[in-house]
Amino acid sequence: MIRIHEIIDQVHTYLPDVDTTLIEKAYVYSAKVHAGQVRLSGEPYLSHPLEVALILAKMRLDLPSIAAGLLHDTVEDTLATLDEIRELFGQDVAQIVDGVTKLSKIKFHSQIHKQAENIRKMILAMSKDLRVILVKLADRLHNMRTLEYQKEHKRVRIARETLDIYAPLASRLGIDWIKRELEDLSFKYLYPEEYDELLEKVEAKLGQRKAYVEEVKDLIARKMADFGLSCRVLGRPKHLYSIFRKMKMRNLPLDEIYDLIAFRIILKTQKECYEALGIVHSLWKPVPGRFKDYISLPKANMYQSLHTTVIGPYGEKMEIQIRTEEMDKVAREGIAAHWLYKEGTIVTPEKQKQFDWLNQLREWQKELKDPREFLDSVRMDLFPNEVYVFTPQGDVKEFPRGATPIDFAYAIHTEVGHHCMGAKVNGKMVPLKYELQNGDVVEIITSPQHAPSRDWLKIAKTSRALTRIRHWIKTEERERSLNLGKDLVAREFKKHRANFSEFLKEQGEEVAQSLSYKTLNDLLIAVGYGKISPVQVFKKYQRMVAKGEEAVQEEEGAELEELSEDEAKRLAQSAQHGIAIQGIDNIMVHLGKCCTPVPGDDVIGYITRGRGVTVHRSDCTNIKNLDPDRKVEVSWHREPGETYPVRLQVMTSDKKGMLAAVSNAISNGDGNIKEAKVVTTPDQNAMFHFVVEVQDSSHLKKIINGIRRVQGVNWVGRASYA
Ligand code: MN
Repeated sequence: MIRIHEIIDQVHTYLPDVDTTLIEKAYVYSAKVHAGQVRLSGEPYLSHPLEVALILAKMRLDLPSIAAGLLHDTVEDTLATLDEIRELFGQDVAQIVDGVTKLSKIKFHSQIHKQAENIRKMILAMSKDLRVILVKLADRLHNMRTLEYQKEHKRVRIARETLDIYAPLASRLGIDWIKRELEDLSFKYLYPEEYDELLEKVEAKLGQRKAYVEEVKDLIARKMADFGLSCRVLGRPKHLYSIFRKMKMRNLPLDEIYDLIAFRIILKTQKECYEALGIVHSLWKPVPGRFKDYISLPKANMYQSLHTTVIGPYGEKMEIQIRTEEMDKVAREGIAAHWLYKEGTIVTPEKQKQFDWLNQLREWQKELKDPREFLDSVRMDLFPNEVYVFTPQGDVKEFPRGATPIDFAYAIHTEVGHHCMGAKVNGKMVPLKYELQNGDVVEIITSPQHAPSRDWLKIAKTSRALTRIRHWIKTEERERSLNLGKDLVAREFKKHRANFSEFLKEQGEEVAQSLSYKTLNDLLIAVGYGKISPVQVFKKYQRMVAKGEEAVQEEEGAELEELSEDEAKRLAQSAQHGIAIQGIDNIMVHLGKCCTPVPGDDVIGYITRGRGVTVHRSDCTNIKNLDPDRKVEVSWHREPGETYPVRLQVMTSDKKGMLAAVSNAISNGDGNIKEAKVVTTPDQNAMFHFVVEVQDSSHLKKIINGIRRVQGVNWVGRASYA
């Protein structure tokens, strides 16, 4: 097991005079809370956070990151709490530990490969502080190094996740050495046979090529010197996984992969890089299409270098990278190399230039056209406009911020959206207006009876959901308007003992056209919407029939076309009892908000312009002044179990506990309180306003009687608003 002093020594190599008390404290604390825990390898658990902290120190990170590395598993795996961490080590450390803990709670269990891009984005979106990801990478790196102690199936799962998620993250953050190591370790566990075979062969080949590598390095250095350029030349074997990938991609045996070694020329200035490139190309013939200038066009992760492939001294392909020392540092360490300077702990004029790196990065990323380009993420809020959530199957879905379970339901399927009645997030029921959070597992509860409502238009955020809800409402409105229009006209016919069934079959279309409607259905829909009254329709019909009778006296009574049984029943009922009030969700029949009628109340309907029929209590003051021609009889047709909101007012003497006592009485009467408001009047009385859900008027009466019996209640009654 490594010792804390190794970590502190490592820190002192790049922060020579820094006070490392924070790290020492974190070490002592971590040792205390992890005491007695053992890793699968048999080592004390503490060895893991120590190794992670050392990796972070090798990445030259700041003190809070290293302290967080020592503490990263304490909240998840021990009795330590986040509050305690915050108190002892400060907000910075606590925030990183919290972020890492949250990441470790996500379980990716299906189709990681297909979902990888979204998962990577989700990880970024969840990590408000980039240091969270750096600690997570160090954690993963050490876990991969000790993967052999895991069980077989776990090894494969973790290696797959590492290859698909974490190695690309390291790559996009520009931390090349972590990316290479993660890839090679994943490769080893995912394709053990191929790995062993390739390792053996590559080692043999590199052995044979040692002399060759030295020769090429010398040759390059000499040629550069001839032109007055001093440089370092490196010949580095490529990592195994990149060779493996190339063999797979091009379907080549190892013998035909020549560029196992990448040569790197490191110079002082950018200008020298281009000069060196010219020299290389004059020495060896470049392979067309393989030259890339990442100096003038850096990669999104800030990587800068010139790449070329040439035909080398023995006719083999040879990859050469040309860059400055500074670029080399960025290429090796990526964003980690610059973290310290961002923190501003040591800003000398010389370092100031590097401090600009992040600012420059921000500038550059503005110019990036591809929204997936990773360094979008360098901002503190990595993806401010997106949120990533899971399906119960573990698929990741992307939504705009503020999206709700309704958006999620429509993203699954239109039918799931239409029948969405509720949602569970992380196993708990949430309201439909709940705002989805990164990492939520969302499950939609559907019911075949459930249907969209207009309110959903305020809740949904995605255009997919909005379009589908609007379409549903429009279709549904047409259908309901048609039914309502039929009901209304049928009643008018019944009143005059005229034959409505015959009208539908015989004269309807003609009447519709003479009233400027394309079809009879359009006319009936217009009646339903209140655009034309049933009286007007009937009058038109009467005139037409009268004319017809004059013209063709002998016309026999047309045989009645049978209506469908259901429709005939419904029409007969409507003619007798008035428009059926079926359910409060009916788009074309609304309950008046002013007087909140409930089943059992004496009610009357009013045909509004464009919103169907509104139902009021007969004694509602609003309906009294309205156009009598538009009034229509209505009757209740209840669905079992449906409840209706009703407004209640309660006056009490203003004493403590009245609200509780009255609420209690309402609950005891099985009423569900939707809203409660209190106004204290100047005379020391209190006025309560409630919205209570009840089944019908007798249920309401029971509740009102219950409230009356409460001591201190002076008056209770239904409220009506103008
Ligand atoms: Mn860990």
